[in-house]
Order: sequence, then structure tokens, then C-alpha cells
Amino acid sequence: MNGQRFYKLILIFKIMLDPDINFFMLEALNMADLAFQNNEVPVGAIIVKDRKIIGKGFNQVIQHHSVSSHAEINAIYDAGQTLQNYRLIDCDLFVTLEPCHMCAKAIVDARINSLYFGAMEPKTGAIQSIDFFLDHDHLNHKVKYSGGYMSNQSANLLKKFFKSRRN
Ligand SMILES: [Zn+2]
Repeated sequence: MNGQRFYKLILIFKIMLDPDINFFMLEALNMADLAFQNNEVPVGAIIVKDRKIIGKGFNQVIQHHSVSSHAEINAIYDAGQTLQNYRLIDCDLFVTLEPCHMCAKAIVDARINSLYFGAMEPKTGAIQSIDFFLDHDHLNHKVKYSGGYMSNQSANLLKKFFKSRRN
């Protein structure tokens, strides 16, 4: 197969998959909204296996008195309970904001298949902003990733939250 045909095929696959990605990203945004309603920085995450949501989480650092209670960590915990397994084989994670280093390592350790994230996080984002953590050679599991899904909605929710706190 020549390069151009291969590229077209990839594009067709992406278009086929995109409605799903947007659907699940919307679910992650709903979780971010829950964080907002709980006066937590609005970040939400969900975990999907075989097109079913098996884990959900939102940022709860204040409620849980825990710096580790990020949306991704909570969703990974929830999915682990669902599967009764600490390894989330063939699972994808959708999160509204680019993950930090802590969450990126947890995503690797949980053996997540693909990571889809929304807005970029220029200060702490470990996937593409301040680091390309998932691309490091020493990792024993490779996570596929792509970002920018519904990033405006995610960023606007964060802006609204920080604006409401200043008032
Ligand atoms: Zn994090």
C-alpha cells in the first residue's frame, strides 16, 4: 500500500472513531461539571472498555484531603473496582485536561491502552506541554495518546471556575 492510500485509510478510521471519542469526552465533561458543583477544580475522567464506561472520576483533592485525588486517579480506582483488577487491560481513558506527571505514571502502571484528553495544561501537562512522559523509552508499557478533544468546552469550564472563585 502506498503512503497516500495508507494516510487516507487512517483518516477514514479516525472519522469512524471520532463520534465515539466525542461521546465519551462529553461524559468526561459531565464529570468535570460534577467537580465544579463540588467546588473542586473542574476536571473529569472516564474509563471505557468495549465501548462501555467502567470507571468515572472527578477531581476531589479538597473533599478527600488528598493531593492524589485527581480525576484520572479516581477513575482508575473506580475502574479497578469494576474489573476487580489493578491492571486495566484494553481500557481507554478520557480526561478533560492534559494529565500531570502523577497521573501519567498511574496511566502507564494501569496499562491503559489509549489516552484521550481535552485541553492542554501548559504548566503541569506531562503529555505534550512540559514533558512527553509517555514517550520515554524506559517505560515498560506504551500508551497511545491524542489531545485537543472538546478542548474549548473543557478550558471554558476551568475559566468559569477560576473566575467564580475570584469574585
Ligand atoms: Zn494528575
